Amino acid sequence: MSLLRLYTRALELLGKEARLGAILAGANVLLAGAQFAEPVLFGRIVDVLSGKDTSSAWLLLAAWAAFGLFTITASTAVALHADRLAHRQRQAVLTDYFEHVLQLPLTFHSGSHSGKLMKVMLAGTDGLWRLWLGFFREHFAAIMSVVVLLPLSLIINWRLAILLFLLCVVFTVLTTLVVRKTYGMQSEVEQHYSDLSARASDALGNVALVQSFVRIDAEVQGLRLVSSQLLAVQMPVLSWWAVVTVITRASTTITVLAIFTTGIALNQAGLTTVGEIVMFVSFATILIQKLEQVVSFINNLFMEAPRLQEFFNVLDAVPAVHDRPDAIEVGRLQGLVEFHDVTFSYDGKRPAVEDLSFTALPGQTIALVGPTGAGKSTAIALLHRAFDPQSGFIRIDGMDVRGLTLTSLRRNIGVVFQEALLFDRSIADNMHVGKPDATDEEMKEAAARAQALEFIERSGRGFDTNVGERGRMLSGGERQRLSIARALLKNPPILILDEATSALDAVTEAKVNAALDEVMRGRTTFVIAHRLSTIRNATRILLFDNGRVIESGTFDELVAKSGRFAELARAQFMVQNERGSAMQPDGSTAVLKV
Ligand code: ADP
Repeated sequence: MSLLRLYTRALELLGKEARLGAILAGANVLLAGAQFAEPVLFGRIVDVLSGKDTSSAWLLLAAWAAFGLFTITASTAVALHADRLAHRQRQAVLTDYFEHVLQLPLTFHSGSHSGKLMKVMLAGTDGLWRLWLGFFREHFAAIMSVVVLLPLSLIINWRLAILLFLLCVVFTVLTTLVVRKTYGMQSEVEQHYSDLSARASDALGNVALVQSFVRIDAEVQGLRLVSSQLLAVQMPVLSWWAVVTVITRASTTITVLAIFTTGIALNQAGLTTVGEIVMFVSFATILIQKLEQVVSFINNLFMEAPRLQEFFNVLDAVPAVHDRPDAIEVGRLQGLVEFHDVTFSYDGKRPAVEDLSFTALPGQTIALVGPTGAGKSTAIALLHRAFDPQSGFIRIDGMDVRGLTLTSLRRNIGVVFQEALLFDRSIADNMHVGKPDATDEEMKEAAARAQALEFIERSGRGFDTNVGERGRMLSGGERQRLSIARALLKNPPILILDEATSALDAVTEAKVNAALDEVMRGRTTFVIAHRLSTIRNATRILLFDNGRVIESGTFDELVAKSGRFAELARAQFMVQNERGSAMQPDGSTAVLKV
């Protein structure tokens, strides 16, 4: 994206505030015009005073005072409104970005570190805020001043005006050269800044790992390395802009001197008055000040450009699925789920799920088993429309899921993630995610059914206890039971269960299993299954391999078939059984690792 396009895009983001923006810009044009009255009046007063009749000087002074008053009042009003507008709009854009990012597909998030997304959000909105503020308070006025001043000076004295034109040319050529020279370098700097944020938040998010593996020095060293790479690219950019400052200062002094020397020569030849020379020196001073503002604006824009570019890149990423215009809002569904010849590919070449067909009646449990990468998670993701299939369809209660609004579809589906995902908020807040208007009684009941009440009541502040970042203050088993309680509160007809593979101690595992059995009861459940008890009791087992279901049936049917599943089951459970592992007589604690 070119600098100009970035700038116009930044202004487009003013959205609803654009009207006020246009008024402020208009006020700036007036201000720019009014500013020139001062040197013109100054020059005229000098000429009047050096003549015989000085009476009109008072009139000129009165006009000067009026213009001064107008300029002060108008610029205060513009500055105040510009400030407020920029602050308001910054918060509005930040919220929009946040909402947009939350809607982006999980594939986007797995490819972008959350620390980087945070940095892009804060740096991007900061950059926009500075640009808007600059636009209303300085840039536009400065640009307009230059545009007004140059033709005006030509009318007054074209010989002296040429010097001002030359000054403008020097500024423009220099700035263009430096921008061209350093544009790529600045993008690289921004890239390093993003790496820095991602790296730092990665280490902070894994602080337990960092400490236990004695990685503090290594992580600090890593951060230092990124910092030094960043500085190595930043320094030449700063040097180039320092060169611009030196040359522009020098050309400023040269221009003022040139106006004086040319002015004296012209005055002696009778081609200009002393007043005009004074006027042009003032013009030069204003012009220089404005040109410096324009250069600093270009410099700022240039420094912000990569940040804005990153920000716009995220804003331009599209959510994988949208509500259709004719999507219907459904209430509570029964939970009859049909997959019909469903095929989906992430890259458009190799299918992650191919020709998947099965039906789950309300209340049935479907276990999805198979090796890693076989397509189990993808099949489940299609059900709650993380993506839409390229061919085939998925129906719930006879309705294509693409015809339902995303919110009403997802309200009917509960998910218990393998890694219990918890907010750094209180236990009650985390449970309210399942049902925002849940009463204390309902929460208590759900917690009890999920075997979580005991540990909640034991913790200092009960339901008000904070669980820490990602639930760090709780043990693994507690986190899982809390996330099960949350799903119980939501009480959806369809449940997705990604069973944890990590082995828990026998007592905890028994509690988690009891909670899981409770949450699955009476719901159509899809389980990415690792526990033998789930597989044993499942209505149907789908054995995935390479995106296809290669065997399906009940546990007993599949074992009797003596196919791949029987082989796997024998290899996994029977071995565990023989080893006399923690398996119960009903096999409930065995973990199937396929
Ligand atoms: P499983 O849940 O059985 O481990 P997945 O559904 O995660 O399998 O993966 C199925 C296939 O799709 C694999 O080949 C995997 O590499 C690919 N895949 C999974 N997620 C993504 C993704 N976000 N982007 C691209 N490919 C993916």
